Amino acid sequence: MAKIVDKAIWSIGPIFIGIAVLLLNMCVLAYYLVVFPYLHSWTDSSFFSKVFSILTLAFTLYIVYCIHFHYYMAIVTSPGDMEEYRKADDPSSSTNETSMRAMLLEMEEHSQFPNSCKKCLLPKPERAHHCSVCNTCVLRFDHHCPWIHNCVGHFNHRYFVLFMTYLILAAAYFVVSAWRPFMLCLDFTQLDWPYYFPRPLLAFSFILAICMGLAIGGLCVWHYYLIFTAQTTVEFYNNYYDKGVCKSQGEIFVNMYDFGACQNFKRFFNIGDTYPWYTLFLPVPIPPKGTGRVFEKCQEFYMLPEQRQRDHVKAQREVQDIEDLEDIKDL
Ligand SMILES: [Zn+2]
Ligand SMILES: [Zn+2]
Repeated sequence: MAKIVDKAIWSIGPIFIGIAVLLLNMCVLAYYLVVFPYLHSWTDSSFFSKVFSILTLAFTLYIVYCIHFHYYMAIVTSPGDMEEYRKADDPSSSTNETSMRAMLLEMEEHSQFPNSCKKCLLPKPERAHHCSVCNTCVLRFDHHCPWIHNCVGHFNHRYFVLFMTYLILAAAYFVVSAWRPFMLCLDFTQLDWPYYFPRPLLAFSFILAICMGLAIGGLCVWHYYLIFTAQTTVEFYNNYYDKGVCKSQGEIFVNMYDFGACQNFKRFFNIGDTYPWYTLFLPVPIPPKGTGRVFEKCQEFYMLPEQRQRDHVKAQREVQDIEDLEDIKDL
């Protein structure tokens, strides 16, 4: 049954993207055809009003471009899978055998418990999980998102979060600036509607912006919480359980990837070392920090007794295994 649901989610992915683009651009059109002309009259306006109108236009176009850029990048960027290993297994493939060995060595070197996926039968790095919809292991897996027809993982999580951030900023701006045109379009004593955009669609766009702003706003706040605490959605549930176990045993829980809120934020967005902070505001492709196969651990983790360190890594591997076995049951 779950297999059928996964296949259905995969098949309708492009339709979800089509709907998202359509709704998004309907609100964009509502802004430029009704809200902007309503707020910024060009004729009989002063020089400063004209400059303000031009700056507003430039700013809104920049936000619209940022939303589309990050959405496009979240869709087309592979979250990171283990295809290199599959190609290396294939004798007809031209993948360099040395590079594959180097990758395996790198993983074995850093991981105390090398693991493999029970479904892909390929090595499974730490923080990777098997996505049953995409039918592949995904590096630093967060969740499968039908709205981008892709998994959210190591290589596209940054784009996904920035897309949501720009989208809720735009939704808030739209709701504030479209308030008066919205009231006007509901006033049926006013028959005059001097805009090229239909009145009912403006009302729909306004309500949609509120609903989507709240829904995506909630999801966005959740993702920023995960970023500041260096967890993925999957890890959050595991850590929540582990925290309870540690508390009952009188031990201190340590998230091995947690370097403190500020460092976690910089590490997630890959700013500070290679890329400057202002790249957060630029619609340019920025790769994430690291390969996504091995991750640095915090000092607190290495200060734990060796047995506890092993237990932590083992617990993580066991969760990965449980998920694989549940998927196999569905086959
Ligand atoms: Zn797998
Ligand atoms: Zn997926």
